[in-house]
Formats: sequence, structure tokens, C-alpha cells
Amino acid sequence: MNAPQKSAARAPLMSLDAAMADLLGRVEALTAVETVATFDADGRVLAEDLVSALQVPPNDNSSMDGYAVRVADVTETGVVLRVSQRIAAGHAAQPLEPGTCARIFTGAPMPEGADAVVMQEDTVEVGGDIHAVHIQAVPEAGQWVRRAGEDVTRGAVVLARGQRLAPSGLGLAASLGRARLSVKVRPRVALFSTGDELVMPGEVAPEAMKPGAIYNSNRFFLRALLHRMGCEVSDLGIVPDRREATLAALKTAADHHDLILTSGGVSVGEEDHIKPSVQQLGSLDLWQIGMKPGKPFAYGSVRRDAGAGPAASTPCHFIGLPGNPVSSFVTFLLLVRPFLLKLQGVPVDGVHALPPPVKLPAHFSVARADKRREFLRVRRNAAGGLDLFPNQSSGVLTSAVWGDGLVDNPAGTTIARGDLVSYLSFSDLLA
Ligand code: AMP
Ligand code: MG
Repeated sequence: MNAPQKSAARAPLMSLDAAMADLLGRVEALTAVETVATFDADGRVLAEDLVSALQVPPNDNSSMDGYAVRVADVTETGVVLRVSQRIAAGHAAQPLEPGTCARIFTGAPMPEGADAVVMQEDTVEVGGDIHAVHIQAVPEAGQWVRRAGEDVTRGAVVLARGQRLAPSGLGLAASLGRARLSVKVRPRVALFSTGDELVMPGEVAPEAMKPGAIYNSNRFFLRALLHRMGCEVSDLGIVPDRREATLAALKTAADHHDLILTSGGVSVGEEDHIKPSVQQLGSLDLWQIGMKPGKPFAYGSVRRDAGAGPAASTPCHFIGLPGNPVSSFVTFLLLVRPFLLKLQGVPVDGVHALPPPVKLPAHFSVARADKRREFLRVRRNAAGGLDLFPNQSSGVLTSAVWGDGLVDNPAGTTIARGDLVSYLSFSDLLA
């Protein structure tokens, strides 16, 4: 299905939802798993259900520094109870003698027979030889007691296979005694930039830039975004604008990677070497997606060498992002992110690949409707509304830095000040 350029130009726009469903339909989760230290598992995708072998917390324990009592012994304020034992966190308790209390600290196990804790602030020590306290507040049963298993019950699936681990998940896995976790392997991604105008920062000083030259900015955010998505990145830099070099780079990359990601050179009518080279080594579909920014997008595959080991039977995925920086950034968040999640075994499907939007009032207006679904760069303001970045051009990367998210504005829709619009935060799109 290698669409010739002319028909691609005339083809009706494909909806983003259709593109997403098509793209996700072409990716299977990687099957390989590895075991990593829980310390190193942030952002990794679990390859096993984590079933708790114990209760968390393991025993009833105090959530305050104070005195453990039997509620039946404290029916009115001012009762005096002898302190019959002292229980610190990490130490075992003796059964509580009736008519006495136990000095207890946060996290210490409740003594058998006690059913509440009176916080230290509600007690006064009685002077003299006998260690005793005045209880100045009548406790309710269960007060300041954390129940055994209130966090996790034995046998519960605490974290499910396919879940992407966040820092809180590492702590929870550790609370079950897990020092190592079985996770999906990281997708191996080869990253290329295309375009003869591109120059690497550091190689040419700003004042020495030739006319028409620009710095390669996409390489920087794409590499960082791939790392955030848990990928192993081979950054192959700017591919020289020669057929042989392009073919060689694609061939080598295909053997050792799960995805080749490029930016630039997918617009209709563009002359570059990536398109014909991918077509020669596999297949390439050029999509015109009804979204703004980010209309041109390419999906394809590159055959692997027969010597590429067990992976040789499946081709390497190819995704070509548009060159305009904001288009590249937005298509990564909306399309490549769910693709990479699915590749790592996270259950994503169709339109659910996007985080649920939040409805917020627009503190701006868009008078002219666009025929494409627009993703406007906006920022939340202190009044609870959204401000619009004044320049929405797909080349203006400042909009993505100034903004903290996107408004998902349906095709053909104007926005009046005060309208509730669908807001997707960059932090949700990067989670
Ligand atoms: P293209 O998609 O190759 O037609 O590029 C569209 C626009 O994006 C052109 O103005 C390119 O100069 C620019 N562009 C392409 N690649 C990059 C890149 N890596 N960094 C910054 N701008 C780029
Ligand atoms: Mg180009």
C-alpha cells in the first residue's frame, strides 16, 4: 500500500481516531521480559501481577504517640490509669492488663485487649512513684488505630501486569517485600533527523549560521520524550541526504530496533531519501491526518536481515513525524506515546489511548473554525480558565514551552470566551 504522492495529496483527511486505531492495530506488545531491581523500575511496565503474600500493615498499630487503652476502662474524662508497659515501633507488645494503659508510639503494635489510643495531647502524667496518666478525653473504639491489612490484604493483586510503574508503585511493591520485579523489556528505538537545513547546536555558533540553516531542535525533545516513555534510544543523528547512506542506516537500525522514528520529510511533495528508502526496504503509508498541527504522518515497516535472530520474522516499525517542531511534538504525544505504551504491554485501545480531557472555560476566543481537529497550546490561569498562546503556528516551539497543555477543539468548531473546552495537560500526556 505505498500510496503515490499525488493521491496522498488528494486523499480525504483521515481522522485522528482512525489513525490512532490503525496505528495501534499494527503493533503487538513485545514479549520479552526481564527482572530489574525495584529501585530501577520507575516507568517500567510490569510483566507480572503482584500478589501480596502478607497483610500491610501486618498488625493493628497505633497512628499516634499516646496511650493504648480499653475503651471500657475510660467511660468519663479524668480517669487515671497506671502505665503497665511501653511499646515502641518495631517491638512486640504484651497483652494489656485490664484497668491499665500502655505507653505507645506511632507504628507500634497494639497490645492484645486494647481497642483505642488516646493521643498524648489528651493526657497528663500523674506525678509520684507510680507511673500513671490522667485521661482527659473519652476515646471511641478504634480511635487512632490502623487496622492490620487496611492497606493491602493477603492474596490481593496490588499492581497488575501491564501497569506502568510510578514512584508510588515502587514503594507499594517494596511494602510487599519485593526487591526485584519482572518487567517488559524497553523498546529499542532508533532516532533519525532528516533535512539538509539542520545543524547541531555546538557545531556551528549562532553568528556563523549559513542562510537557511536552522538548529536541529526536534532531536532534543524527541530523544527526551523517548526516554520518558521508557525506551532505549539509539540516536543516529542527522541522516545524510544520500540514498546509499539512508538505506544503510535504515537497514542496520531495523535489525537491532523495534522502531525507527524520524522527523521531517513526510510532507506531500517533499523530496528526500527517507521515503523511497523505506519503501525499498519495506512499506510506507503516508497519512494526511485531519489534525492541526501534525497533518503529515507516516507509518511503515522495514524488513530485517535474515541474520537478525529471532526477531527477523517481524519487520521493524517505522514512524515518520512531521518536521515542524510543534507538529512533531504533538504527534509524538498523541500517536507515538500510545504506540509505545502498547509496544510495552500497556492495555491501550483506540480513542482511549488519550488521557481523559478536563472541561475548563476558555478565557480566549477562536473566531475562525478550522476544518481539522485542532490542538491549541494553552495554559491554565489563576482564575481557573485557559489562556491561549497568541501564535499557534506549527513552527513556534515557544508555544509548547509557554503552554502547559492542549485544547482538543473538534473540526469546524469556533470557541467563544467562557465556553467549556476539552483540556489535556502535558503532564497527563507525559505520564
Ligand atoms: P519537513 O517536514 O521536512 O517538510 O519540515 C517542515 C519544517 O520543519 C521545515 O521548516 C523544517 O526546516 C523544519 N524542521 C524539520 N526537521 C527539523 C528539526 N529536526 N528541528 C527543527 N526544525 C525542523
Ligand atoms: Mg525536510
